[in-house]
Amino acid sequence: MQRILSEKAYKEACKYIPGGVNSPVRALKSVGASPLFVKSAKGAYIKDIDDYEYIDYCGSWGVFILGHADKHIQKVVNNAVKNGTSYGIPTVQETILAKIICESVPSIEKVRFVNSGTEAVMSAIRLARAFTSRDKILKFDGCYHGHADHLLVSSGSGVAQLSQASSAGVPQSFINNTISLPFNNIEKLEEFFRNEGCELAAVIIEPVAANMGVIVPDIKFLQRIRELTKQYGSLLIFDEVITGFRLGTGGAQERFNIIPDITTLGKIIGGGFPVGAYGASAEIMSLIAPDGPVYQAGTLSGNPVAMAAGIQTLETVLQQGFYEDIELKSKYFIKELENIISNKGITMHSVGSMFTLFFNGKEIKNFEDVKNSDNQRFSKFFNQLLENGVYISPSQFEANFISVAHSKPILNKTLEIVENVLKTI
Ligand SMILES: *Cc1c(COP(=O)(O)O)cnc(C)c1O
Repeated sequence: MQRILSEKAYKEACKYIPGGVNSPVRALKSVGASPLFVKSAKGAYIKDIDDYEYIDYCGSWGVFILGHADKHIQKVVNNAVKNGTSYGIPTVQETILAKIICESVPSIEKVRFVNSGTEAVMSAIRLARAFTSRDKILKFDGCYHGHADHLLVSSGSGVAQLSQASSAGVPQSFINNTISLPFNNIEKLEEFFRNEGCELAAVIIEPVAANMGVIVPDIKFLQRIRELTKQYGSLLIFDEVITGFRLGTGGAQERFNIIPDITTLGKIIGGGFPVGAYGASAEIMSLIAPDGPVYQAGTLSGNPVAMAAGIQTLETVLQQGFYEDIELKSKYFIKELENIISNKGITMHSVGSMFTLFFNGKEIKNFEDVKNSDNQRFSKFFNQLLENGVYISPSQFEANFISVAHSKPILNKTLEIVENVLKTI
């Protein structure tokens, strides 16, 4: 495959955009490739500007549970555009989407729309700090919660040590109140609460970690977090930007029956448009302006075109049997994939329609384990799949997503390609 036009487009992009991309992982640096430039997408496929087609398991990072360019979404979006694309004045569409979310997600009685997952998390943290009148935040290594300054912390090994920012340009003072502990480690969690639980505003966690690859949570770990936050008067924030409406209409909280205080959403709920949201009980949400003292606003928040795409998406996933179908299909694919990778030094994690292949024969429970994976071998795997027309998320620190558009023949074709590629690397 000679991606001549993509190469050219990349060179041109690099002249004007840092690294040629508007989000770093798209540059494919860690797998030693240069990025595809996409021309169009349909269903389970993306097509690049050189006219090569790929079966896509990135799905715009989990957004497209219905597949790309869904014709019903296109229709409602086109209709919405005809009526104007933003007013800065309320629309009834915002209430329709809000109502669907409140009725679907167990922890949410009221919800506020923003423009990205990052904003949703930022606002949720502000809200938790206001509600508890405390400053400290606990997160977990390898969990990603967007790029707000105070959350760009991956590791703070041990309670006594200073946290380290995972980006330049983040003042130490911004992260002094952020503590990061290993995922799935109950002992460290308990120790932390014994020492600092009374000062903690909130624990934020991806209930299924999906930004260090898919890491399945130990349910006891999640339960213990819920117990300890209650006991110490801290709030629990589930960052369901990926898992919300992916693992069922009620997200991971419904699946595991662990109800957080605040939930953040994004990705799927915007149907391909920039939408994030955060929600909680009416009591907690009453702190937000104009009802309460927590300021949070947005020029384009609740954008009518984005709301239309979101409503259409959620109405579709709420239809009877939607999740049964996608879970059944995913189960089939994952099981076949397990057979193919067995005895090849690869560990697979999956929950519902999300999965990651780690080139690491060992058990994987947290970020440290993921970091021990073989990136060279993964890179070969990624590039060979690409050559053969399969686009997976370009890192072992990311999840792959199955959509309803991934039909059985498409899944079978993928399995065949994966099997052949694994013979060569
Ligand atoms: C994608 C993601 C975010 C950030 O959302 P953006 O829309 O990229 O700002 C936050 N949390 C989780 C769990 C995510 O997967």
